[in-house]
Amino acid sequence: MRIFLLLHFVILAFACWGFSTERPNILFIFCDDHATQAISAYGGPLAEIAPTPHIDRIAEEGMLFRKAYVTNSICGPSRAVVLTGKYSHLNGFRKNGDTFDGSQQTAPKLLRKAGYETAIVGKWHLKSEPTGFDHYEVLIGQGQYYNCRLKTNEEIVKHEGYTTDVITDQTLAWLEQRDPEKPFFLMSQHKAPHGRWEPAIRHLDFLADVDVPEPPTLFDDYSGRSQAAAGHAMGIADHMGDFRLMFKYSSKLTPAQKTGLDAYFAPRNAAYHEANLEGKDRTRWHYQRYIKNYLRCVRAVDENVGRLLAYLDENGLTENTLVIYSSDQGFYLGEHGWFDKRWMYEESFRTPLIARWPGVVEAGAVNDTDIVSNLDFASTFLDVAGTNIPDDLQGESLVPVMKGLTPQDWRKTHYYHYYESGGHGVPLHFGVTDGRYKLIRFPEGHLDSWELFDLESDPLELESRFGDPELSRQQAFLESEMRRLQEKYEVPATE
Ligand code: CA
Repeated sequence: MRIFLLLHFVILAFACWGFSTERPNILFIFCDDHATQAISAYGGPLAEIAPTPHIDRIAEEGMLFRKAYVTNSICGPSRAVVLTGKYSHLNGFRKNGDTFDGSQQTAPKLLRKAGYETAIVGKWHLKSEPTGFDHYEVLIGQGQYYNCRLKTNEEIVKHEGYTTDVITDQTLAWLEQRDPEKPFFLMSQHKAPHGRWEPAIRHLDFLADVDVPEPPTLFDDYSGRSQAAAGHAMGIADHMGDFRLMFKYSSKLTPAQKTGLDAYFAPRNAAYHEANLEGKDRTRWHYQRYIKNYLRCVRAVDENVGRLLAYLDENGLTENTLVIYSSDQGFYLGEHGWFDKRWMYEESFRTPLIARWPGVVEAGAVNDTDIVSNLDFASTFLDVAGTNIPDDLQGESLVPVMKGLTPQDWRKTHYYHYYESGGHGVPLHFGVTDGRYKLIRFPEGHLDSWELFDLESDPLELESRFGDPELSRQQAFLESEMRRLQEKYEVPATE
C-alpha cells in the first residue's frame, strides 16, 4: 500500500511538472475600432480590395466567431470588461473618461499569481497605471499615429516611427527578453484603426485609384425607427471635421513624414476645396477619403500581425501559443451614414474574434451560432492557464466552444448596456439579442422608446418591428430575457 501511494505521488508529481512546463502561452492581439467588415476572413464587399492575409491566417489555422458581441461598445469600457470579466457597472468603468480602479481583481493579476509572465504593450486607455503586469509599455491616452510616447513604470520614451510598427517592435523586444521558464500572457494592443486615420507613408498609394464600394445604407434617412438614430452626430456628411478628413494632421511629424503625407494629401485636398462639392457628391467624397485611410491603417495592422506570427514560427512558439485577434468593438464604415461606434446596431455591437490554438482548435473552423462576448476573455485566459476561475466573473470560458464542444446550457441571449449618453449624439441605451431578434431600449425622457429588429428579414436594421403583432411572441421573450439578465448581472435598477 505504501509503495502504491509513493508511486501514485511520483506519477502525480511528474504530471504536475509536465503540466507546468507545457502551459500554453497566450498572445492577445487587440485592435481599436477594427470592424469585421474590414477583415477579409469575414468576407463582404471590402474583402477583395483590402485583404488582410495575416489576420486571415489566424482564421485559416483556427476558429472565426461570427456572433461575438460586446457589452458596451466603446474603447475604455470594453478594455475594462476584458481585464475583469465583469460588466461596466461592476468594474466601475462605464464611460471613456472614467478611471479604472486598478486595485480590483483582474485576469492578468490572477495569471501572474498562477506563474505566468504578464505584459502589455500599446494602447491602455484606462487612465490609471496598469496593474497585474510584469511589464507594461503603454500609450498615453489615445496616443498618436506617428512618433508615439510609451510609458513604463519607470519612464516615458518617445519612439520615432509609425505607431503600429512601434507597438509591434516593442512587443517583439519584450518577447526576446522574457523569462523562457515561464508561460507568457502578452497583450499587444494597437491604437489603429482608431481615428483620426493617419496612414503609414508606405500605404498612401494603396487604394489611391480605387473606388471603394459604398455600403447600401450610406444615405440612411433613419425613418422606420425611433428618434434615436436620427439624433446622431457621427455622420460622414457633416461631422467628420478637418482632422478625420486629413485636411489637417498631426503636428508631431518629422519633416520627412510631413513631406510624405503632404505629397499625397495636399493636391487632393486642394482639388476638394476647389470643387465645392455639395449634397451626396460631398458625402461620397468624404466616404472615399475616410474608408481609404481606415483601410490603410488596417493594412499596417495586418502586416504587423504577420510579424508577430512569424516570430512565433521562428522561435518554436506557434504550437504552444493561443493567439487571439480581436478589437474593443466594431465600427461603422459608412453604414447608416456613420463613422464611430457606440450603438447596439450590428456593425459596432459585433466585434471580430479569431482564435488559433494548434492541436486544440480545429483549423478553419467557423462558429456562426454560439453567442460569445468580450465578457468571456478573462474566464478564457484563466481556463487556458489551468487556474481557478473566480465565481464572481460574469463571462464563460470559451475553451469548450473553441474545442467544438459548446455546452448545452451555453448562453442563448446577450445583454448590452451603453452609458456614455451624448457622445457623438448617441443616447444611453440597453438591449438584448438572441442572435436573430434584437430588442433595444432608449430610456431617456426625450426619447423614451423601444426598437425591435429581425436580423434575418432586415439585416441592415432599417425597420423597427416593436409592437408588431406578428412578432409579439419574440418581443415578449426578449423583454423577459432583458429583465432576467439585468437581475443575473446585477444591473442597478436606476440604470
Ligand atoms: Ca475602440
